[in-house]
Amino acid sequence: MISRIDLRGDALPEGGALRDLLPRAEFDVEAALEKVRPICEDVRHRGTAALIDCARRFDGVEIERVRVPAEALRGALDALDPAVRAALEESIRRARIVHREQRRTDVTTKVVPGGTVTERWVPVERVGLYVPGGRSVYPSSVVMNVVPAQEAGVASLAVTSPPQKDFGGLPHPTILATCALLGVDEVYAAGGAQAIAMFAYGTDECLPANLVTGPGNIYVAAAKRLLKGRIGIDSEAGPTEIAILADDTADPVHLAADLISQAEHDPMAAAVLVTDSVELAEKTEKELEPQIAATRHVDDRIVPALSGRQSAVVLVDGIDEGLRVVDAYGAEHLEIQTADAPAVAARVRNAGAVFVGPYAPVSLGDYCAGSNHVLPTGGCACHSSGLSVQSFLRGIHVVDYTRDALAEVAHHVVTLAEAEDLPAHGAAIKARFDWKVPGSK
Ligand code: NAD
Repeated sequence: MISRIDLRGDALPEGGALRDLLPRAEFDVEAALEKVRPICEDVRHRGTAALIDCARRFDGVEIERVRVPAEALRGALDALDPAVRAALEESIRRARIVHREQRRTDVTTKVVPGGTVTERWVPVERVGLYVPGGRSVYPSSVVMNVVPAQEAGVASLAVTSPPQKDFGGLPHPTILATCALLGVDEVYAAGGAQAIAMFAYGTDECLPANLVTGPGNIYVAAAKRLLKGRIGIDSEAGPTEIAILADDTADPVHLAADLISQAEHDPMAAAVLVTDSVELAEKTEKELEPQIAATRHVDDRIVPALSGRQSAVVLVDGIDEGLRVVDAYGAEHLEIQTADAPAVAARVRNAGAVFVGPYAPVSLGDYCAGSNHVLPTGGCACHSSGLSVQSFLRGIHVVDYTRDALAEVAHHVVTLAEAEDLPAHGAAIKARFDWKVPGSK
């Protein structure tokens, strides 16, 4: 079912060569760009009419308007299963505690007497939040997008999710109910590239947004790449991934369950086990079959995900070598299932989120750990972070100098301006003092 890569002995190369050996899903965003370009252009020019056509073409549903009416949000919340409501409320509560604590405070640095620089954190004014809804329904992604935006102090916030055939062209009712629980009243029934274009260009129903965040499929990622610049984006979240670094103290039943839980997202999802124990590898491989037989989404997602080129069991000589492998891979989710897991986790350099020990599985982080589950995929964890309060803030440097403070450094500024052959820069300093400014009377 799942392939093996043996990197023991001399087979473990350095740097980029190691990265190339590791399994990775094909997620060719560049190739999808040509497909989404006309969709985005159509939304730019025809607005709501284009979104209605896209709903027919890509979601197989007839809709008359894209904005979800307030009654539908209230109705979905009233009809929400009380157990699901309680679970969502706990998920929101925990996410709020964590994200509130992570708010940035302004920092003022006194550079010299009379000269200060303040880094002021200002929320993005309007954000568009994408909640996927093609294969699965992700009310948890509503929580993970909305809570950090709210805690950052974003004033204007809208959610969009694909229209569903079975629910009269509205997004899934659990998504609507979660929006209502969070106090979000601006919700749209649009998915894919067209939804990102709606936020980028605006329509008669939806004002343009400054920033668009949230995970999605390849069309969503391609539209974000295409429209980046006009809008800000978070990282391009592609197919989901788990990597597990485990030694012989790990429980193969847990490992198999965690690999399968990731594979059930998507046929392109990646599940990678890195271990120095051949026995653990064998036991985990054996454990996969009965667990797969007992679950759903087997042939359409789990089997293709685990047997695809993106998933593997990787054998290494020891945990130090395993750390090199998981750092080169830069997983969206990384579980550490080893002896002294906290010490091993502290040495990890590249991962979207790290899950430490046997009682912190990725499923906990997906819903109720308090951490965010919108995380960088495809190795982007080497340079990007997951969604957080920080994603919705901009730092502005505020420079405040008195006359004396400027006078003290003026000659250095003039010297540097001349060294860069920018005499007008120097003149702007000279004009404030008794120095002669060339050309002035
Ligand atoms: P989606 O909402 O991203 O995409 C569905 C939309 O794609 C549809 O509304 C449709 O408009 C568009 N589409 C479908 N076929 C198209 C075509 N041929 N041409 C143009 N547009 C088309 O939902 P999805 O497809 O289920 O993908 C969700 C993805 O998000 C999965 O890969 C999942 O693993 C990922 N995900 C990631 C995280 C994370 O935190 N990283 C969280 C949840 C989901």
